[in-house]
Amino acid sequence: MTATKTNSKISVREVAKYRGQLLTWYDQHRRDIPWRTKLGQVADPYNVWLSEVMCQQTTVQAVKAYYLKFLVLWPTVQDLAAAEQADVMAAWAGLGYYARARNLHKCAQIVANELDGVFPDTQDELRKLPGIGEYTSAAIASIAFNKPATVVDGNVERVIARFFAVEEPMPRAKKQLKALAHEFYDGFKERPGDLAQSFMDLGARLCIPKAPRCALCPLQTDCQGYQAGIAAELPRKTKEKTRPQKYGNIYWIINEQGEALFHQRAPKGLLGGMLGLPTSDWGTSAPQKHPVFVESPESCKTFVDYTFTHFNLQLHLYKAQVANNKLSEEDNMFWAAYKQTEAKLPSVFKKAFKGFQA
Ligand code: SF4
Repeated sequence: MTATKTNSKISVREVAKYRGQLLTWYDQHRRDIPWRTKLGQVADPYNVWLSEVMCQQTTVQAVKAYYLKFLVLWPTVQDLAAAEQADVMAAWAGLGYYARARNLHKCAQIVANELDGVFPDTQDELRKLPGIGEYTSAAIASIAFNKPATVVDGNVERVIARFFAVEEPMPRAKKQLKALAHEFYDGFKERPGDLAQSFMDLGARLCIPKAPRCALCPLQTDCQGYQAGIAAELPRKTKEKTRPQKYGNIYWIINEQGEALFHQRAPKGLLGGMLGLPTSDWGTSAPQKHPVFVESPESCKTFVDYTFTHFNLQLHLYKAQVANNKLSEEDNMFWAAYKQTEAKLPSVFKKAFKGFQA
């Protein structure tokens, strides 16, 4: 291989060889996941888009059930566009990163109403749609439309970092890894979608984070990380900053019919547009008590901890009553049976509910 560790240029012949090795392996060992077409089948852009948006920052395992549920509820982009946003948010509950669901719905409406239900087939046009960034546009162009595109997700980054023994730590190495991956993808018109998915599957099946299964890998002979005995240590990481700690209060309030009080959260911001239990604001110091609620003497677990990507949250639990039994319309609260509402709640509220029952 003519590649150097940090500034690789692999020859045309080498690229052809590696692509061949990857695709041969992929044809025999690819993952069976619901949005994958069978060999030789053409992918439906709606299915590819839906799965790629759901997979942003979320594992394939977690996405599978949501993907299938969305296809049952809204089999086409027109069906999704015609749905109520509240229903889309409720169906997304538990998948996290809720801005994705709002953008998904907006994007469906643009495709259905302004583009005759047809997704654009170029990265540039795809990127003009809500919720479609660089990675997602590359994945859709490549997988749905078989256009050459440099598709680089976390799995691909790991394979490339190891194959070229890139020592620069993440996230600084991202640009370099993309340039190296580009050498594999560049100008490959025969099966660009399959090439992208072969990288992803190699990263998910063999080139796994902790203990890569190099003995089974089609790239082993030329993998610099393997040859140097450092594959498992790559990609290197910059020391993680500690997540900030935030605090909040959360309230469990039941009426005479046994219904719980729920809060329709503001459309923007964290968990925007989702349903939740009533809470105080979340900040870095102990929160103020909510002006509308008074604590009840009933005991429950005192707090639950929850980890968001960018901060840790400690929610203090209060069984409470509504002060003067009054709520105003601006409070955006309503009574409902917990069991019938549970499926629409983000995980943090489900965890708090368990705390209230402990
Ligand atoms: S040989 Fe090992 S480290 Fe190299 S690409 Fe294959 S699985 Fe990854």
